[in-house]
This record gives sequence, C-alpha cells and structure tokens, in this order.
Amino acid sequence: MNIHEYQAKALLRDYGCPVSDGRIVLSANEAKTAAGALDGPLWVVKAQIHAGGRGKGKFKEAEAGEKGGVRLAKSVEEAAEEAKKMLGKTLVTHQTGPAGKQVNRVYIEDGSDIERELYLALLVDRVTSRISFVCSTEGGMDIEEVAASTPEKILSFSVDPATGYQPYHGRRVAFTLGLEGPAMKQCVKLMGQLYKAFVEKDMEMLEINPLILMPGGNLKVLDAKLGFDGNAMYRQPDIANLRDETEEDSKELEASKYDLNYIALDGEIGCMVNGAGLAMATMDIIKLYGAEPANFLDVGGGATKEKVTEAFKIITSDKNVKGILVNIFGGIMRCDVIAEGVIAAVKEVGLQVPLVVRLEGTNVELGKEIIANSGMNVIAADNLSDGAEKIVKAVKG
Ligand code: ADP
Ligand code: MG
Repeated sequence: MNIHEYQAKALLRDYGCPVSDGRIVLSANEAKTAAGALDGPLWVVKAQIHAGGRGKGKFKEAEAGEKGGVRLAKSVEEAAEEAKKMLGKTLVTHQTGPAGKQVNRVYIEDGSDIERELYLALLVDRVTSRISFVCSTEGGMDIEEVAASTPEKILSFSVDPATGYQPYHGRRVAFTLGLEGPAMKQCVKLMGQLYKAFVEKDMEMLEINPLILMPGGNLKVLDAKLGFDGNAMYRQPDIANLRDETEEDSKELEASKYDLNYIALDGEIGCMVNGAGLAMATMDIIKLYGAEPANFLDVGGGATKEKVTEAFKIITSDKNVKGILVNIFGGIMRCDVIAEGVIAAVKEVGLQVPLVVRLEGTNVELGKEIIANSGMNVIAADNLSDGAEKIVKAVKG
C-alpha cells in the first residue's frame, strides 16, 4: 500500500526526521490560506499522486511552457495560483503510464536552498531477507537510470536483524555521500530514525529522492515515497487510514473488496484462473499463442459462486477485454461452483466477447454439464494449450 508524499513527511516528522513545513490543499479556495500559513520567501507547490517523476511530468491540459507537477512560487498569491491550476488536472509522468493521474490534492511547502541532491532508500531485500540501505550521490535523478549508467555510484548493503541499525551503518552511508561534520552526524541520526520507522510501520519501501544538503550544512528530506506491506495493515490502523482509494485502479479496488487477487494488465484476453501458479502459466501460454493477457486473476482455492460472479464482472468491465479464458483446475475448488458462478455473471452482465472454458478436476463432469445446458455460447477446451489456442483464435480470427 502506498501513501502520498505529504502523509509520508508527516509520519517521518513524528520520527524526528528533518522535513519542511507544509500544508495540504484539497480545493482551490483553501490554497491561499495554506500558502499564507507558511513563511516564504519561497514556496513549492507539489501535485500529490502515487507516482514519482512529478517534477519532470506534464499536465495533459498544460498550455505551452507550463511547468510540471512541482513548481516554485515567490509569493503567497503565486503559490495559490499554481495550486489552483493543478487541482483537477491530469498529470502524466514516466511512472503513471500515458493515461496519467488526476491531481486531487496539492501540497504547498516551504522552499529550500539546495547545495546537493542525494539519494537514500530502505527496502526489503528478497535475496538476503533483510532490510537494505541504498544510497547514492546522484539524487534528484531516476535511480534506475543511475543503476544502468553509473552503477558504481550506488552503495547498497543489508542490516543484520540481530544487531539492527548501528551508527557505523550511518557513517558508511555518510562517507559514501561525501558528508562531513554536522551533516555526517545528522545522517547517522536520520538513518536510525528511518530504520526505526521502517520496522515499526511494516514498510516495504522507503525512498528519499532527493535528500538534500543545504548551504548551511544541514540535511533535509525533500521528497518521500513510502510503501507498506498490505498484509500488515490489520495491525497498522493509522497507516490503513491513509489509503487513498482514488489512486487505485478501480477494478483492483473492487477485486480487493471480494478478496480476489487481481492485477490489471494491458492485453486483450481476460483470464479467470484458480491458483497463482496456474494463473501465471495461463498468462504465459496466452503469450505463447500470440496474444496478451488483460489481467492476472486468482479466484483462490475456496471461492464461492458469488466470488466467481464478481470476478467475472470485473473482467467484463474492462473495455480492453476482447475475449475471456476461464481456466480452472478443481482441487479444493469444485468445477460446478465455477460453472454456476460464470453462468450467474453472464446472466447479470451479458456476454459481449468470446468465452473459452477449460475445466478439470473435482466435479468436472457436473461443471461441463451445467455449462452445456445453460444455452450460453461457450467454447469448451480440453486442456491448457487447447484453451489458449481457442481463445486467441476467437479473438484474432
Ligand atoms: P518528483 O520526484 O516526483 O519529481 P520531488 O519532490 O523529488 O518530486 O521534486 C522534484 C525536484 O523539485 C527535486 O529534485 C528538487 O530539486 C525540487 N524540489 C522539491 N521540493 C522542493 C522544496 N521544498 N524546495 C526546493 N526545491 C524542491
Ligand atoms: Mg523525487
């Protein structure tokens, strides 16, 4: 689960991290009061969306020469104007995809003088199963780009959970970042605070890009991106409350309400499968036959008829879907339950596209019978590759 920059900064402030003072603006008429509450002489107006690259991003509605999602302002009036201009508009960055994201919240914060922009991140390293620090002198840039062109400028190491964070970890980072004197001390302290926040709040990722060194030698967190372990939200009610559903894919949001594992993709073939492994194999084999999956969907082991109906409705609500492949291996899941769910869904929402159904396992004969007697226009398949071949053929002709 992700949260907005302004929420991330508030959380980090509670852990003692150095962040600028700022105000969130949800509607145009709040903009002036928000900007006026800050000291100036420089204001920074920042679009709040769950995607990075806002500074270099572009608004769909932008006029010639108009700036991206991070703008400087020299007066309260100017800051309020910029905030108003961003609200309700659609910002496209390299992380949003071409559709972009609507800006519903704008953060106005004090501007900072920047001497150097640095990069600092914490993440769960799957290889070592530990929390890792990543840092680089090349802040403000895409870290993927730095990793590709100048990997020697990135330092990464993991922390032994038995010792936890130790000041020498911080000194190692400070040394790599070329920090001296008070900035070195601040770095050691900041990293301890970040590590504590990361562990206590069940984060998966914490990225500060940039962390800045200011002319006076102080450090400041200028951007913050936090990602949390969704499975831990039951014990993090404060974090769960920060969820902004408008930032999520509407189909994924709907799926999460029914406990379905659904991920929207760009292809044309909708898939309804039970079991994550079979779902992956189904996506692979669709690609093998020359088409692209429109989604990943695992309805789970013990899905009910209602759950299957919802899953089918979510797939058909996707305008990119030109055909549907239902691929079920009935182990715990019974094929007749799937068949009833599919029929119930088709009755409710209709069927505009070809549907291929492959059933195997528990109650398979019963399932096939239910579908055959339904009067629905369903193409039956005998096995996985037969199913993939038939749906791709039906869609592509
Ligand atoms: P994004 O990564 O989404 O583009 P950032 O918050 O990193 O957004 O902002 C982009 C750039 O804008 C930063 O690298 C920094 O140069 C500048 N910037 C952001 N916030 C401030 C601020 N409060 N004061 C001065 N410059 C800022
Ligand atoms: Mg940034």
